[in-house]
Amino acid sequence: MMKTDLKSMTREELTEFVLAHNFPKFRAAQIADWLKKGVVSADEMKNLPADLRGLIQNSCYISVATIEKKFVSRYDKTVKYLFAFADGEYVEAVVMRYRHGTSICVSTQVGCKMGCAFCATGKSGFSRSLTASEILAQIEAAQKDLQERISHIVLMGMGEPLDNFENVVRFIQLVSSEDSLHIGTRHITLSTCGIVPKIYELAQYRFQINLAVSLHAPNDEIRARTMPVAKVYPMDILLKACRDYFDQTGRRVTFEYAMISGVNDSDDCAQELAQRLSGMNCHVNLIPVNSVEGTGYRKSKIERQQSFVHILAEKGIAATVRRTLGSDINASCGQLRRNQMKKEDK
Ligand code: SAH
Ligand code: SF4
Repeated sequence: MMKTDLKSMTREELTEFVLAHNFPKFRAAQIADWLKKGVVSADEMKNLPADLRGLIQNSCYISVATIEKKFVSRYDKTVKYLFAFADGEYVEAVVMRYRHGTSICVSTQVGCKMGCAFCATGKSGFSRSLTASEILAQIEAAQKDLQERISHIVLMGMGEPLDNFENVVRFIQLVSSEDSLHIGTRHITLSTCGIVPKIYELAQYRFQINLAVSLHAPNDEIRARTMPVAKVYPMDILLKACRDYFDQTGRRVTFEYAMISGVNDSDDCAQELAQRLSGMNCHVNLIPVNSVEGTGYRKSKIERQQSFVHILAEKGIAATVRRTLGSDINASCGQLRRNQMKKEDK
């Protein structure tokens, strides 16, 4: 029998579950309370009758993310985790401290199908999507380990969130609810490589989350060199979806732009990008690309970064170069799992 994923259930579903087995409604609230406390087994749910505990034990499971490895940056206390799930799959998550709070970057899939050429996750292939509770479990495990409240979430770890749409939507609903960590949607950022139909679908939920779109190029020709998805959803169509997203939700879209030396960092690229984005309510996040073994890509020189920001600013496009945190621990995602896979191959 397939067991039910207890921690992915909403309060309504928990209520349906207890009522369907002839237990009173208030038992759902008790279960939700225990899940919020981070129990890993029904045995720990002390105020439930033995038959309900037994039912949960036999028909449900509770997701946990186990810390397999942990690295702490000497420079800025950034923490990187390699988590293992029950089936032996690994994902990565990174905790970063900012002035506005503590932020965690979590994974939404084990690997990724999108195959971006500069990305360590893309290079290691795809294994499976995570459930809502597995995305949540990464945050709970980090909070417990660090004994610190996490205030912000970025869905920017391994995987493409919009390729795991239902679970990611469920995760956003769960994590922002009082039954769970109660992290406001304005403190959640979802990053996508640009799966256009799913951007429209996401807009329908009217979440107040921040949408980040990985652009990484000013046109389709350059974009397609590193991002296969550009051949499926051209930039015109993608930018139209971003405009619609803003109209529907009132949330300004952020564009991620990994600056790769000699590929997308010329002044012409900056000019063209400014033209494409003109009139949009948006922000451009420039990220010096992290070099990943086997890609041959190098980060742009400081002078290129500054020139790019300057050109965008002149044309009225707000842009900043993102501070690199955890540079000594390979804080960008995908590299740890890749190394772990290589080790286990041996
Ligand atoms: N799949 C989603 C979210 C996960 S990747 C997406 O692509 O947006 C999170 C961010 O890291 C994306 O902007 C991605 O393009 C970027 N990224 C991946 N590899 C990188 C690298 N080597 N250097 C800099 N940014 C990288
Ligand atoms: Fe997947 Fe994002 Fe990496 Fe591209 S950058 S391969 S979409 S995780």
